[in-house]
Amino acid sequence: MKTIYLKRTISNHCPRCGEGKVLKHPFERLEDCAVCSLKYEREQGFFLGGVPVSYFLVCSLWVLPIITIWFLNWLPLAWMLGLCLGGGIVLPIVGYRYCQALWLGLYFCFAWNEMPPREE
Ligand SMILES: [Zn+2]
Repeated sequence: MKTIYLKRTISNHCPRCGEGKVLKHPFERLEDCAVCSLKYEREQGFFLGGVPVSYFLVCSLWVLPIITIWFLNWLPLAWMLGLCLGGGIVLPIVGYRYCQALWLGLYFCFAWNEMPPREE
């Protein structure tokens, strides 16, 4: 496991060189690295892996804390349902491209031997 690949994509940098960007802006992913030419999409449908990453982040960082707050009687039921539903719809849309970048880093973190060597 090479966590450097994940660390680089968390900060929106290419997992191989750490210099080029993965996302042009929050709603657009680049096809390859401008510095080392790493092609980001490993195979067709590769970035569908961003869906479970998005699901995990929304559930663990949004839904679960809100349900916990509701469970402690600090929030009415209607607010809890509204916040969970609203966040459950908006956050995956806003964060989907970033989750694709995280997926790229996670992929190479565990499948580090599949990282193509850099051509000079
Ligand atoms: Zn690169």
